[in-house]
Amino acid sequence: MRFGYALGLIVTLLSACASSTTDSDDIREMAFAFPTRLDVCAGMRVSNQPRDRYSQFAQITDRVALARAPVETGCLSSGFGKRRSGFHKGIDLHHRTAVDIYAAGNGVVMEVTKHRDYGRTILISHGDDVFTRYAHIEWIPPRIQPGYQVSLGEPIATTGHTGNARARHLHYEILFGDYNNPAKSFGLTPIDVLAAPPAN
Ligand SMILES: [Zn+2]
Repeated sequence: MRFGYALGLIVTLLSACASSTTDSDDIREMAFAFPTRLDVCAGMRVSNQPRDRYSQFAQITDRVALARAPVETGCLSSGFGKRRSGFHKGIDLHHRTAVDIYAAGNGVVMEVTKHRDYGRTILISHGDDVFTRYAHIEWIPPRIQPGYQVSLGEPIATTGHTGNARARHLHYEILFGDYNNPAKSFGLTPIDVLAAPPAN
């Protein structure tokens, strides 16, 4: 496990004032935790690559901003949208060894599950009907349970290749809609995090 002690300390201090949405002060304080650029993985053909300049945070609603690449490090191995085998509801962030996955924004853990295709997953609610899903996880610390309040940049898991994944990567989704539908998180609408406008 590669949890940074310095980051852990800051997260502990910040968690005292955790809120369910993420404001610009939160972003300024935690921006260092996220990659400052997102390259396409060397030797990989990636469809739906982002065309615009990369910024660390995307503004999803007026009150919810989220990290575009909530990992310690990694490259883009698949973009959002139509691809040869159907529709990709998120982006894939690959790194050959296990790295920390961070909460993309302040929020509350909704689901910690095991799924045939997604493998071990976490779903976080960020308010304003916005959710993030993290899939193919290897390891989840015991405190990460439904109802747990996470802070932006808090380590919540490590990358793996559980479920239907050929190589180790984080499959990361941003979802929007009413969770109280018959299909729960699978009834929400996926959003392209790389196409969303930069955070205010
Ligand atoms: Zn994926």
